[in-house]
Amino acid sequence: MSANVVTRIAPSPTGEMHIGTVRTALVNYIFAKQNGGKYIVRVEDTDKERNKTEWVDAIWRDFEWCALTPDATYVQSEHIARHRELLLKLVEENKAYISKEAKKDDASQTVEVVRLRNAGGIVTFTDLVRGEVSIDTTELGDFVIARSIDDPLYHFAVVADDGDAGVTHVIRGDDHISNTPRQILILEALGFTRPAYAHLPLILAPDRSKLSKRKHGASLENYRAQGFLPEAILNYLALLGWNPGTEKEMFTVDELVSEFSLERVHTAGAVFDIEKMKWFNHEYIKLLSMEEYGARLTAFIESRGESAPSYMPEILTELRNRARTFSEAADFLLDGEFSFMEETIPTPAAELLLKGAKAEASAVKEHLQTVADMLANHEVFTADSVKDAIFAYATEKGRASVLWPMRVALSGKEKSPDPFTLAQLLGKERTLSRIAAALGVF
Ligand code: GLU
Repeated sequence: MSANVVTRIAPSPTGEMHIGTVRTALVNYIFAKQNGGKYIVRVEDTDKERNKTEWVDAIWRDFEWCALTPDATYVQSEHIARHRELLLKLVEENKAYISKEAKKDDASQTVEVVRLRNAGGIVTFTDLVRGEVSIDTTELGDFVIARSIDDPLYHFAVVADDGDAGVTHVIRGDDHISNTPRQILILEALGFTRPAYAHLPLILAPDRSKLSKRKHGASLENYRAQGFLPEAILNYLALLGWNPGTEKEMFTVDELVSEFSLERVHTAGAVFDIEKMKWFNHEYIKLLSMEEYGARLTAFIESRGESAPSYMPEILTELRNRARTFSEAADFLLDGEFSFMEETIPTPAAELLLKGAKAEASAVKEHLQTVADMLANHEVFTADSVKDAIFAYATEKGRASVLWPMRVALSGKEKSPDPFTLAQLLGKERTLSRIAAALGVF
């Protein structure tokens, strides 16, 4: 493939970025890098009623966060003079004409729209994903390309900007496929070279409806707020509608640049599975160093206006093993899931110590005492070594009658991690003093 490949992502700044836009951006980025080409971000801000500058800023921030760094950026409204020039050229060449007509929603007013002369007929293009696509344009008639000579419609602006920027590959969502023949007619009138097209399958909700920001929370901002890592999001998005043909699932963007291929993209819509994205996120979280994980988690908790409990550093490994996102980890912490890590806890009632033990109080007391004696002589307080020390005894006496009260004594709670993990997290001193306190309730 030639080195002059130019791709672009062209988001409209009308709200939070849809996760599908991130996927399209990723594929454009990958394709440009694969071909030593250029990847452009063009903000399509010509819809004056729906655009907001805060959403323009959000686009730059979002792509920076994902590290989908563009080689060039444009804002479409900067091209208004050029659009006017091209519209006038089409009118002068009689490829388009100014049509005085009644305003659509108010027949008492007239407008001067610009219409493209359309001979009609079938437009055929080869889509890199879908193959040959033919669409009849006869019914479009002389369609409108600008509301006035100063106010081009979306189709015209896209074609003009793609042409001027030398875009060679238009890679975008399937929802644009029906726009393509119209845009080809405009570009032929303008005399631009036709780019290659690739329409990516839509991302669907589990019920196979279109994945929506409003109904399904499918914005990048929402996933960022839930504590997803950008690497995990991009990895997951790459696999929506594409697979490498091997078992491999974990891909950095650099690996995608060498392994992704548009030819392997499916035409069928791809169902978005949040659980699978959480799985990816967990895999990426486990790759962070403990130090990095702690720093990021602290920042995440603070961004919610909360502060991390002082015992957080002691349970980081446990948190990282259990929580698939920063938001899950923050919820564990702030909901008191690990409150047993407080320096002191209320001593559990006898009733709770007995609840799951399936044994008499006298037996439970005896087991707690034995566990205390065994651990008093035990030095290495890892979960495995504590388990080694106690497990044979527990198995002999009945696991529930030994391990339930031990776990409740250590955590003070009905639900908690297993007693060996608790012993490791609490350390020898706190473990022994909590068992002693529990013995005192009988
Ligand atoms: N601005 C359009 C959108 O946000 C994309 C245009 C294109 O990719 O051709 O859907």
